[in-house]
Amino acid sequence: MTLSTLQEKYSENFVPTIPRTPTNRYASIILLRETKSYAIFTTEGGEQQDVEQTPAGLKRPEPTTRLVMFKRKQVAPERRTGKALLRQYGIFPYAIQKGQVIFGEEALALKEHYEDCYLTEGLCTHCPDCLIYGYAAVEGEGARKARLMTDTCFSVRPYELIQKQVKFNVIDEAKHTSGTITAYDYTTPGVFLPAVETTVDLTMDEFTYVLGNILRTTRYGKEGTRQGFVRNHVLAIAFSDVELFANLEFTQAFYDAFMDDSEIDMVERGLSLDDFQKHANQVIETLKGNVAGRVQVVTGEDMKAILNEVRELNRDVERLAPFLKELHVHSASFIV
Ligand SMILES: [Zn+2]
Repeated sequence: MTLSTLQEKYSENFVPTIPRTPTNRYASIILLRETKSYAIFTTEGGEQQDVEQTPAGLKRPEPTTRLVMFKRKQVAPERRTGKALLRQYGIFPYAIQKGQVIFGEEALALKEHYEDCYLTEGLCTHCPDCLIYGYAAVEGEGARKARLMTDTCFSVRPYELIQKQVKFNVIDEAKHTSGTITAYDYTTPGVFLPAVETTVDLTMDEFTYVLGNILRTTRYGKEGTRQGFVRNHVLAIAFSDVELFANLEFTQAFYDAFMDDSEIDMVERGLSLDDFQKHANQVIETLKGNVAGRVQVVTGEDMKAILNEVRELNRDVERLAPFLKELHVHSASFIV
């Protein structure tokens, strides 16, 4: 059922069952988020995009203003993707009776059942999403700490170079008059935000689920019609017994590498995926140098094999349905 490359070569980095106490088995998904359309990254209710002034590089302390994508803006869309998949494959409704997980009509007939699970009010507290990504206090269930960590990610290029103000003249159809002109700051297509999602103490199947959510999710940013298309490119997977580095450090290390490369012009030409791929291994290697712990970085053929196996599983309904069901049975049978 699980992925063969992970199973054969990297199984010791996962827990066999959901643990009650931490064992610090970290598996980090090191990726680039690339806008493939105009996008708006704002906090709820805000009109301005979120920006922050940070030191430009690790070796270059001069301040630079960067676009930021907050943690919630990254993880919430991925949770929604995963949960829609669970619903599509009949995980909901379910019930737990004497340690057994019951699905469908049979579950509905029972007094205590879970009809659905949704952010943020209706979390069921027993599905894979709840057990992996955690939840704040739910009545009668307490809170659960996430086993997936990430933080705010930052653009590599300065904000001035990656934003564009677009004005709209809103035409009133009824009155045939041109109404208010509204202006929004957009992030342009082709903007890269390096990011790491660190999972801790996941089973191999839970990790496969998380990786699938990252590969499946394509809409991020301001909710509603202004979400932009974002492509996630996985650069590496790393197994360790400590956390690796902050997203800001990852961005700053790329900034330094690009400034030192005479073939790259971040101001005039901008950046391409090739530029990141050219420097990714060295950047990760440099950052790895500061880590006080065991780290194993998986890139190249092995990483490609893992990603392909996740894609294949997600394409194959015959395998995906039992995979998700089994994943859910393991989550729902986990009783604290
Ligand atoms: Zn849930």
